[in-house]
Amino acid sequence: MRVSQLFAPTLRETPAEAEVISHQLMLRAGFIRKAAGGIYSYLPLAWRVLKKIETIVREEMNAKGGQELAMPIIQPAEMWQETGRWSVYGDEMFRLKDRHNRNFCLGPTHEEMITTLVRGEVRSYRQLPLMLYQVQNKYRDEIRPRFGLMRGREFIMKDLYSFDRDEAGLDRSYNKMYDAYSRIFTRCGLTFRAVEADSGAIGGSGSHEFMVLAESGEAAIIYCGSCDYAANVEKAELYPMTTQAEESMPMTEKDTPGTKSIADLSQFLGISPEKTIKTLAYRTDTGTIVLALVRGDHEVNEIKLLNKVGCLQLDMANEEAILNVLQSSAGYIGPVGLGDKKDIIIVADGTVMKMYNAVCGANKQDKHYINVNPVRDFKPSIVADIRLIQENDPCPRCGEPVKTARGIEVGQVFKLFTKYSTSLQATFIGEDGKEKPMVMGCYGVGVSRTMAAAVEQNYDQNGIIWPVPIAPYHAVVVPVNSKDEAQMALAEKIYGELNAKGVEATFDDRNERPGVKFKDADLIGYPLKITVGPKAINENLIEVKVRRTGETLYFGPTDYLDGIK
Ligand code: ATP
Ligand code: MG
Ligand code: MG
Ligand code: MG
Repeated sequence: MRVSQLFAPTLRETPAEAEVISHQLMLRAGFIRKAAGGIYSYLPLAWRVLKKIETIVREEMNAKGGQELAMPIIQPAEMWQETGRWSVYGDEMFRLKDRHNRNFCLGPTHEEMITTLVRGEVRSYRQLPLMLYQVQNKYRDEIRPRFGLMRGREFIMKDLYSFDRDEAGLDRSYNKMYDAYSRIFTRCGLTFRAVEADSGAIGGSGSHEFMVLAESGEAAIIYCGSCDYAANVEKAELYPMTTQAEESMPMTEKDTPGTKSIADLSQFLGISPEKTIKTLAYRTDTGTIVLALVRGDHEVNEIKLLNKVGCLQLDMANEEAILNVLQSSAGYIGPVGLGDKKDIIIVADGTVMKMYNAVCGANKQDKHYINVNPVRDFKPSIVADIRLIQENDPCPRCGEPVKTARGIEVGQVFKLFTKYSTSLQATFIGEDGKEKPMVMGCYGVGVSRTMAAAVEQNYDQNGIIWPVPIAPYHAVVVPVNSKDEAQMALAEKIYGELNAKGVEATFDDRNERPGVKFKDADLIGYPLKITVGPKAINENLIEVKVRRTGETLYFGPTDYLDGIK
């Protein structure tokens, strides 16, 4: 590829909207361009990186017996209704209607689709185990699409699903995938850690996340230096809070109009900016509901913690849904009751700012109470007064002090057991002649997020430093003076020889000052920069600069190829 023809428009300035390094550098180096929030075009350099990551992923999936297929991105609502996830998935699901007014979604994940596919085709234990995967765009209308490719609304995922006869089979499939994932991220040249994880909205139990370690990571993880314990913080043991006796404020009876806007609601509840995860989730024996207002940033883990103690999460941005809940409880803000008496947490976008408690006794027409003290004013049947594990807390496995780190979740493996096969009736006839549900697992790699994570871990002030296995090109050949025919001819020759030998190289044939070419080369992040200047012509010395170490090596015109290898 001649750089004069390469579609990689570089930018001098860092675009203002880009907060994290990978977003900044991939915009500046001409890898991506934004179409809408969380939706990007991948330009040729990015596409090459993505294809390399995908190739590694495919090789490792195939090596474990995975078979690649492709399922529809547009999915009919019916299969999601069968599992109940049509409503559970909430606003993160992109929904659409066809001309006949039928409901569809753009696939955020494919458990429903694959289980429906397999149930129609697999009848006997002889057809199991089965591992099927695809690499394709996924769609999630993230509440905060941000950080460029790290949290997109359209992103590339590899998703594999395993179907086994029994749990022993699932364990084998899971271990194969765990191993494949370790190999994938090692081959990509990334520093990562596999941590125990909660299974979240996908369900089931038994899960690991693969975390690329980086300061910008949204996930907090803990790990032990003394044993091999590692977990994300919300999965890690929960610690009882040392609750200090608080000055109880007197209960106040207040009028509550039936319908409120979110702004009114926040003001009404007196949200203060101080953040707290106290009084997380109380469920009293009378079915009292805790109503919490949560907003802010970077506190995904705290919200997961709330989920963990059995709270239902609503999206604060979805005013309609919240008002529905409020109205379904006769317009009270306090004790909001749903049929199954679930605790309700209203979540804005991040930090827990204020928890709000109310008691069932307040459930009186147009009245509710504020400043309720959960122990004084009602008896909680479940007190989940807990905090997240912290640096230096004793390791849940060996008791030594644990350490903390931040990570980017690039992959996750889940044991689903029979969650989907039961609700979608994906059964088979066992060896014993009995019908049973297939035992499933699912396994995702964020391909586009992995590219971003690689940049987060590999850069300096001059630009990206691609790990060689996923670099868009291995080398760029730069003639210092594009007016010098001898330099141009030698550079062209080297460029040809490199590519012939399998070293993917570009040739910066542009009529630009050397400084511009070198700057672009560093920004784009080629692992090697081969400079053809007067030294090459006069002294037969070809200069090879290693991007990662800054080392400069000189080779003769015939031995440089061996040198590069
Ligand atoms: P997160 O916790 O970051 O929201 P997730 O747990 O919802 O991710 P999974 O359902 O486990 O994601 O999907 C498998 C993989 O897909 C993730 O490990 C991640 O690498 C990738 N992924 C998920 N959401 C996004 C996104 N919005 N943009 C880019 N990649 C994503
Ligand atoms: Mg998510
Ligand atoms: Mg996650
Ligand atoms: Mg996940």
